[in-house]
Amino acid sequence: MSNPSGAPPVPAIILFGSPGSGKGTQAKLLGRCVNGPHVSTGDMLRSHIETGDNIGRESQGLLKAGKLVPDELVNGLVEQRLSDPDSRAGVILDGYPRTLNQARVLMGLLAARGFRPAVVYLVVDYEKIVRRLSGRRQCPVCGTLYSLKTNPPKVPGICDLDGATLITREDDRESVIRQRLSEYESLTRPLLDYFRQTGVPVFETSGAGATPEQISARICGDLKSSGVIAGNAEVEAQASVTP
Ligand code: AMP
Repeated sequence: MSNPSGAPPVPAIILFGSPGSGKGTQAKLLGRCVNGPHVSTGDMLRSHIETGDNIGRESQGLLKAGKLVPDELVNGLVEQRLSDPDSRAGVILDGYPRTLNQARVLMGLLAARGFRPAVVYLVVDYEKIVRRLSGRRQCPVCGTLYSLKTNPPKVPGICDLDGATLITREDDRESVIRQRLSEYESLTRPLLDYFRQTGVPVFETSGAGATPEQISARICGDLKSSGVIAGNAEVEAQASVTP
């Protein structure tokens, strides 16, 4: 497959997994081996909510309740984002697609632009997720995520990178987390069958007993050895120390 300009296909890495499976963290780390922006529909929606525009007003209540926003809305955001110049060499999708309709739309968008999709499926135990999400804090300025248990900020409550006061996302409260997991189970997890049936490669990885860096190195190694992305020396060095 080649894109409309005749160049080789570019990778579209779809980070897949339940809320709290580490997609955001992995998306940031994968930036070391995948050439392309981290596209998070959750972050895009939160930034519209902050701006207070129409999209923000339409999504705010749904995010608070842990419910999905309408497909057309996120499909439009992603379509626009894929057309940005920085997406030309590749893209890392986080939190999209989440429904069958979104997956179908995305496959059409990627095919038309010469992207080659690959899914990275992060498998994590649900009870661990509830514990992890309720202990999660985020910097409202740069988006960096912290975990009170496994990755706390150096100064409690303060972002290491820019000194902003960390916040707990409203949708990281336990009742909302359970609602988000239930949405994932009924609407999103079935997409794995769709990907497999349509021939999209799925790289499954379990986070048990490994650091985020080790998981990332393992994923990079898999993507590289299967030819989804080009190799690079830094990734090879990291992958060789993965247990
Ligand atoms: P996230 O940060 O990916 O966990 O997303 C936070 C919230 O944003 C979700 O619980 C949904 O309310 C909304 N959201 C993000 N991505 C999507 C999507 N692809 N489809 C529908 N709703 C989404």
